[in-house]
Amino acid sequence: MQRKRNINHITCDVVIIGAGAAGLMCAIEAGKRGRSVIVLERNFKVGKKIRISGGGRCNFTNIHSGPENFISNNPHFCKSALSRYTPSDICGLLDKHDIAYHEKKLGQLFCNKSAQDVIDMLVEECEEAGAEICLGSNIVKIVKGHVFCIDTEKERILSENLVVASGGLSVPTIGATGLGYELARQFGLKITETRPGLSGVTFTKSDLDVFGELSGISVLAIVKLGKDSFKENILFTHRGLSGPAILQISSYWKRGDRLEIDLLPDVNIIEVFESELKNKVEMKNVVARYMPKRLADRLFDGYVVNKPMNRYFGRSFEDAAKKLHRWLVKPRDLEGYGKAEVTVGGVDTVELSSKTMEVKKEKGLYFIGEVVDVTGHLGGHNFQWAWASGYVAGQCM
Ligand SMILES: Cc1cc2nc3c(=O)[nH]c(=O)nc-3n(C[C@H](O)[C@H](O)[C@H](O)COP(=O)(O)OP(=O)(O)OC[C@H]3O[C@@H](n4cnc5c(N)ncnc54)[C@H](O)[C@@H]3O)c2cc1C
Repeated sequence: MQRKRNINHITCDVVIIGAGAAGLMCAIEAGKRGRSVIVLERNFKVGKKIRISGGGRCNFTNIHSGPENFISNNPHFCKSALSRYTPSDICGLLDKHDIAYHEKKLGQLFCNKSAQDVIDMLVEECEEAGAEICLGSNIVKIVKGHVFCIDTEKERILSENLVVASGGLSVPTIGATGLGYELARQFGLKITETRPGLSGVTFTKSDLDVFGELSGISVLAIVKLGKDSFKENILFTHRGLSGPAILQISSYWKRGDRLEIDLLPDVNIIEVFESELKNKVEMKNVVARYMPKRLADRLFDGYVVNKPMNRYFGRSFEDAAKKLHRWLVKPRDLEGYGKAEVTVGGVDTVELSSKTMEVKKEKGLYFIGEVVDVTGHLGGHNFQWAWASGYVAGQCM
């Protein structure tokens, strides 16, 4: 590595801002190709988000990950990088380090032991590749002359290439900052609107009065918003709804949108009602065969009319069936960046080369990972994007 220390400054080939998944992958690849690399990380530990991911076991990829699992103003942008660094590539890296993993469900791969294994692997690979990680680095100023001049509180670094891998805005308590977006603005780049994604939603006051007590109940459901829908569990919380299906749809939700929730996705409740029409059993007790009784009770107290089945005339039970298959919820808001797993939106992909992540109008400047307007679905896709975008950038500078 040809990093040079001078009395006044350090020179290197590549400075990467952020020692998260994308930044470390980029450092490894650029370092392996003989580039002198310095990674500047504001925290005193690397990969803090990796550490808390997947409930501490890091859902590091998804074997089915493809462009359809990503949200972006340009849905084609992610294709090139994803095809050059695939889920089997990251699995190969874990295999090389003897890190055991398993598929939990729906192609989601988790470490058997701990997310720390992935962090240790990345740090070890950085060391092997000669990439230096500087922890506790606070960036004060960045300007571009004939090269990038990066001033931290401790030193000045001159570098031909600058990679912004500072992530999104979610979970500021573990280091998220808006630096990536500030730099994009400084260099005159467009940013698509940013908002929390993979987040719980909160109920309005009236829904909270009815459903707030159900906190802890989880049921399989289909949650739909426009043409997008997800069939997974929803979880009632003391503030609203969460669980995988809600987290997924939240990335598409905008204030004022109404969610349609099928609470009985695997049951044709009309047929069930028809078969019970001669009986005295109350409708809510019929429904309680297919969902937790507390939920059925609440739905029939506040939302659906309950009476014995033999008191429904004609097809008057259809209204109840419709409400159960199409529960309409207009959330008050998202839980916000404090709890969201990702930031939707970011540096507009029109500004970047899809093959290298380099800014088209600013040679040597790159944006990778979550700071870019490419957001994955829940289930390992966000890390896959971080690995793939970091890899392609590291391959070219
Ligand atoms: C609770 C939680 C669980 C998650 N679980 C999963 C999961 O299991 N699977 C999955 O695919 N995705 C998961 N995600 C999303 C995933 O963690 C992110 O999409 C991914 O980490 C993005 O990688 P990145 O390298 O772009 O950004 P980050 O991992 O956020 O890394 C950015 C780095 O830049 C540093 N930084 C920020 N600002 C500055 C600055 N001013 N100066 C210097 N350094 C700075 C940060 O400290 C951080 O270390 C989860 C997210 C959360 C919050």
